[in-house]
Amino acid sequence: MDFEELRRHAHRQVDWMVDYLATIESRPVRSQVTAGSILAQLTPSCPAQGEPMERIFADFEQVLVPGITHWQHPRFFAYFPANSSPPSVLAEMLTATLASQCMLWETSPAATELEMRVMQWLRQLLDLPEGFTGSIQDSASAATLCALIAARDRATGGQAARAGVSGAQLTVYASADAHSSVEKAVRILGIGSDHLRKIPVQADGGMDPAQLEASIAADRKRGLVPACVVACLGTTGIGANDPLEAVGRISTQEGLHLHVDAAWAGSALMLPEVRRTLRGLEAVDSFVFNPHKWLFTNFDCSAFFMRDPQRLVNALTLTPAYLESSLGGSTPEYRDWSVALGRRFRALKLWFVMRSYGAEGLRTLLRNHIDWTARLSRLVGEDGRFELVAGPNLAMLAFRLRGVPDSSASQVDGLNERLLERLNGEGRIYLTKTRFQGRTVIRFVIGQTYTQWHHVEQGWHEIRKAADRLVE
Ligand SMILES: *Cc1c(COP(=O)(O)O)cnc(C)c1O
Repeated sequence: MDFEELRRHAHRQVDWMVDYLATIESRPVRSQVTAGSILAQLTPSCPAQGEPMERIFADFEQVLVPGITHWQHPRFFAYFPANSSPPSVLAEMLTATLASQCMLWETSPAATELEMRVMQWLRQLLDLPEGFTGSIQDSASAATLCALIAARDRATGGQAARAGVSGAQLTVYASADAHSSVEKAVRILGIGSDHLRKIPVQADGGMDPAQLEASIAADRKRGLVPACVVACLGTTGIGANDPLEAVGRISTQEGLHLHVDAAWAGSALMLPEVRRTLRGLEAVDSFVFNPHKWLFTNFDCSAFFMRDPQRLVNALTLTPAYLESSLGGSTPEYRDWSVALGRRFRALKLWFVMRSYGAEGLRTLLRNHIDWTARLSRLVGEDGRFELVAGPNLAMLAFRLRGVPDSSASQVDGLNERLLERLNGEGRIYLTKTRFQGRTVIRFVIGQTYTQWHHVEQGWHEIRKAADRLVE
């Protein structure tokens, strides 16, 4: 393909992109295909001769798009949003075109320096402690892994990177409702799931600080080496917060690294009315949140902040001859701040988004989502068939159908699962479930970029309609 052909196809694809977004509501939110049906339509081996782009594109539309779940659909209320926005899409087109490897300052000075700047903007917007610096990671999971690398380094006096962890049995603490990425990181680091303490949660879904304290004390008594506490703001299940102030006091007393996983909820700290209610950030050593969740920036974009990046950098720096670089100097070499060497130019999309919306524009979108969630929770509360189980927590709530009197717990769980399957199978809205306090609950998360109140209303209407038919 020559460059003039690229131009022609790119123009055509841009038209497709805009038409797709403009008409997305006519598609089912969750893909309705059956397992294996896409695979069966794909030729089993690579074509020997090149094919025309027209044919490739036609297959994209006809074979693949039906197998896409439309995360940018305004009636997507499942999981957490992985949202995007027009400025983010524009930046991603440029990033793909530049296709730079931004691993060293020298391999694209603008990428490193823009990343420093947008991270500073985010730190200011969220009012994180001064002096926090960080980098953009591909995911909160990777950032949490990095936080635990720094914690491991601290707990072993800087020995773990060379001597390994066999000398000291480290322990890590997180709530029972913490994201699975914490346990995955513990496994990767050789600490092991058996040494992750899953601290019970209180009625509001936040970690019980007394149990945290007791667990640390018990481990010390046994000769284990407590290394890190992971606190969550906005649990994935129901959006609960761990009590940061109390957890921070314990971490400080015990000399442990305190990492905060605010993957989804972190964006809301841009709102002064939310930020004011959060105490205890002073005790935090590292903090991650995902602009690729609730800040209108395409996946992948996780903002990972640290009080002292040196621990992580010391643990990860290796400079083989082929990576020696005398340039930069006063700027970080971000290759040593994460697992992968190669790095995409992720700062660009964030910069486009932040400039295009401005801080106030972003705040307005977040406030809308939060207001609509409160409105929805009132509607749920007014319908006696439903029980609001948790929230509204920022822009999510969790509820369930009560079932008929005398139903057993498992019958009610089954009823809610059928409700969800019916709704998702119809495709007009998309919701997911979790378990809270041993019960199946339906999560409703508002945060898709193009969602308006009428989409939320329509979502609630669909839920009630499906409930009518189930109860019949
Ligand atoms: C989504 C989520 C994660 C994982 O995010 P990735 O960026 O996909 O790794 C971690 N923690 C919490 C609380 C989350 O909600």
